[in-house]
Amino acid sequence: MDDCIFCKIIDGEIPSDKVYEDETFLAFNDVNPQAPTHILIIPKKHIPKISDITESDNELIGGLFTAAAKICKEKSLSDFRLVINNGEDAGQTVFHIHLHIIGGRSMEWPPG
Ligand code: 5GP
Ligand code: ZN
Repeated sequence: MDDCIFCKIIDGEIPSDKVYEDETFLAFNDVNPQAPTHILIIPKKHIPKISDITESDNELIGGLFTAAAKICKEKSLSDFRLVINNGEDAGQTVFHIHLHIIGGRSMEWPPG
């Protein structure tokens, strides 16, 4: 998608600090980290937000979590938070689905 920063990162038009890539997903360090580890995993398919997924995306969305588990295992990160913001009021600023992996510090619950 032409106007999407994350599609530009996938295409290499915008540089990123890559941590993982396969045919379906790309993961890179967040440019504005909220914790010692803050990685974003994105599907290479442009889907704006979780509200847009359908049953045909079940495998893709499952794979997003498997990729997160793989990345955390590689980084020996046992405790972490996975976050997907959906919509502006929930804090979504980039409208290409992304899973935040946040870890390396203790976190409070519930979130603000
Ligand atoms: P959201 O607020 O949509 O859930 O998360 C978007 C995330 O993308 C934010 O944490 C923000 O710091 C990150 N981000 C925005 N633009 C870029 C970029 O160009 N490069 C990287 N690496 N992260 C970005
Ligand atoms: Zn996109």
